[in-house]
Amino acid sequence: MPAKELVRPCMDCKDAEAILDTRKRQLCGNCFKRFAGHKVLMRMSKYKMKKANRKTPKLLLPLSLGVSSTVLLHMINDDIERQLAKTFVNVGFELNILVVDPSTILAPDAKYDQAYEAVTKAFPKLTFTRLPFHSVFEYVPDMKEIIQEYAGSKITDDESRSNEDRLTAFRAVISTATSKADLDSVLLTRLVVGYAKGLGCETVIWGDSDTRLAAKTLAGVAKGRGASLTWSVSDGMSPWGVAFDFPLRDLSKPELEQFKSVCDDLSEIIVPDEPISDNVLTKNLSIDELMMRYVRTQGEKYRGVMANVSRTANKLESTTASDDALCPLCGGHVGNVKGNSGVTVANQSSDNYSSKFCYGCMRSRPEATC
Ligand SMILES: [Zn+2]
Ligand SMILES: [Zn+2]
Repeated sequence: MPAKELVRPCMDCKDAEAILDTRKRQLCGNCFKRFAGHKVLMRMSKYKMKKANRKTPKLLLPLSLGVSSTVLLHMINDDIERQLAKTFVNVGFELNILVVDPSTILAPDAKYDQAYEAVTKAFPKLTFTRLPFHSVFEYVPDMKEIIQEYAGSKITDDESRSNEDRLTAFRAVISTATSKADLDSVLLTRLVVGYAKGLGCETVIWGDSDTRLAAKTLAGVAKGRGASLTWSVSDGMSPWGVAFDFPLRDLSKPELEQFKSVCDDLSEIIVPDEPISDNVLTKNLSIDELMMRYVRTQGEKYRGVMANVSRTANKLESTTASDDALCPLCGGHVGNVKGNSGVTVANQSSDNYSSKFCYGCMRSRPEATC
């Protein structure tokens, strides 16, 4: 049979039309999926190493139903399916998936129910759990004391109310967009970790692209949370005894969007990002949103620079002593932190709370004026 007449052959298989461009190469959909999936599987391969007396590691994947975490789930599931079809099966780990219902974080919307139903159908062999955001009170037992001390006179946490009302009351006293987004992400991390610990998971597999890691790095420094970068964007142990791992760190957000575009079965699941509107006043955006915008727009022009930001952050090591006091809210170090974590923190607040919570949390506190 004569060779296929191809207008623009894929540079890998040379047997199909190239449909997308990535890193100066033109690839067909299948070759792109293999290229991107390989980057994640390389990072996941450490869980397949058999060690004597080692129990199968339990991993938790928090799924937001957005592009990045859903693509990560798809890639890992593909590998599990491939393994299960073999004679010598080596999945290497037990995977649990947690969806913190976006309707309880953002605003109620039926699209999240549909996406959740679609994802559980698409991956029938995996175990899914869906929790509302306010279950942070269940999974982090000292949340009541933390909130009370943190918000001080601004709030009286009333345990006789529903957890939903308690969380709403707490979130309502936080004034700026930056502080709201900052504390939401702290609470979300605490909930995910609390659930992971309850399940006996040793590692949380986060679905952050390298674009997002770069944005988190820049935002973290701007918000006075530079000292937490050693675990919030780096692979390693978190302050709560559960490791954090970021297997999408070699792929950018646009590449994950490309992956989605060549995977028909993901279109029903993924809830697309809200489009970036130019009409929103910059002052109404949180630092996290601003940084994500900045990295998205500049990252397309200067991909190497953005990749370098997250790669450099991944090399940071904590230089603080392990017996240093940790912030009861976010787990960051309290007090003066020097060394390669990049921030010297001064306690600016005059009240007695300052000794307990870290600088980053103090800045988001209801009374804080800085
Ligand atoms: Zn190809
Ligand atoms: Zn803190």
